[in-house]
Amino acid sequence: MQVFTSLLVLGIFFTVYIITDLRSYKQRKVEDMISLAQVIGTNNVSTLQFQDNDAAKEILAELHKVAPEIIYASIMNNKGKLFASYLSPVAAPGFRIPSSLEGKKYLFDDHYLFVTNTIVNDKKVLGSVLFGVELSELEKIKQSKLEVSLLLLAVAIGSSFFIAIIIQHYISRRLLHLVNAMKEVSKTGNYTTPLADEGRDEISTLIKVFNNLMRQVKENEQRKDEFVGIASHELKTPLTSVKGYIQLLESTEDKKLNKQFAQKALENVTKLEGLIKDLLDVSKIQSGQLELNKKEFNIDSLLDKTIIDFQMVSKTHEIIRKNHFNNEMILADRQRIEQVLINLLSNAIKYSPGENKVIVYSQKTDKELIIKVKDFGIGISEEEKANIFERFYRTKDMSMHISGFGLGLYICKNIINRHNGKIWMEAEEKGTAFYFSLPKTN
Ligand code: ADP
Repeated sequence: MQVFTSLLVLGIFFTVYIITDLRSYKQRKVEDMISLAQVIGTNNVSTLQFQDNDAAKEILAELHKVAPEIIYASIMNNKGKLFASYLSPVAAPGFRIPSSLEGKKYLFDDHYLFVTNTIVNDKKVLGSVLFGVELSELEKIKQSKLEVSLLLLAVAIGSSFFIAIIIQHYISRRLLHLVNAMKEVSKTGNYTTPLADEGRDEISTLIKVFNNLMRQVKENEQRKDEFVGIASHELKTPLTSVKGYIQLLESTEDKKLNKQFAQKALENVTKLEGLIKDLLDVSKIQSGQLELNKKEFNIDSLLDKTIIDFQMVSKTHEIIRKNHFNNEMILADRQRIEQVLINLLSNAIKYSPGENKVIVYSQKTDKELIIKVKDFGIGISEEEKANIFERFYRTKDMSMHISGFGLGLYICKNIINRHNGKIWMEAEEKGTAFYFSLPKTN
């Protein structure tokens, strides 16, 4: 495309160059011939005055020595009658003076230039001079300019192609390198070695994007591997407890103790159930099968009920509700919104060990209802903020100490997004605040 454009520009440039050059040649020729006609006119003043047309013919015949391109020259008297003329032997047989010359100082006709000039003496018009000039030189100039232009154009085409081929070779070599790397990755599954490229062009951007993609795939793989480890551990711990309590139940006769063991076993089963529910939700989200059962309900009553239920199981933290929506109704899946709230509350408690309160705020704007869950716990660093809503993501320093799958926030985000709402977090002076918004029904 670039080669084609540059050729077009060069073609236009050469055409304009030839046209202007020929035009200035013609202009020069007209000026030269008019000057010569003036000289011939002056030389013929006396021949006209003395009616000596032999002398006039001689003067005209001598003209070809000075300007061989003049193939016809004539002198008219002041009555417009032919006084003397000269026709070169090389003139074409059909040569004639065009009638359209009348009244003009010069005329280009076919391959000839015709020039006329009046002969004046003492302000008296004695007659006129007429030249017929052959323009074969113009044809030659035209021909040679065209040849030079074509030659230059050919050189330009050649060098453009040559440069284009070199560039294309350079580009395709790097593209091939990239394609081979992709093939290698898809064959071996080895995402670890990034491609080296120092350039700054589009291919370098492509290579950077490819390297980024590989890095993300690698991170995802790592996270998945970590997840398998975490999941097995998270599932095994309550299962081991359940097994232990059942064994105790079997070996103990004491009814009071048995009730306690059964309760503990049940708590662990509930925990297992929660973990499996999360896994099922993720697989539903992945396959686009997470269905919402939207109905109108009072958001304040849902918040109050969830907080009361949660407070019953949370012994360490007090959950404080600050303000209310004044019985605002909302169209949403009640169970799923409750699930989001429970997730945020349990995170707020889980990630604020040693603290004793969590605060729930409600805010209203023209278009949405915003719920904020604030804790005074360990907080989240600025770098990790962007990742916490990703699947399997757990913050680095905490994943070892506090149990979890790294799925809760991912599920919350999906539920809220499916309600056309938003979910986000903000670091607080101490702890973290999680927000989610839902559009108002009216
Ligand atoms: P889980 O808690 O099971 O690990 P989540 O998806 O709920 O998974 O949370 C993802 C990560 O975000 C957590 O591992 C934790 O590092 C971080 N996180 C979530 N909530 C809080 C919070 N309130 N305070 C500090 N860190 C949090």
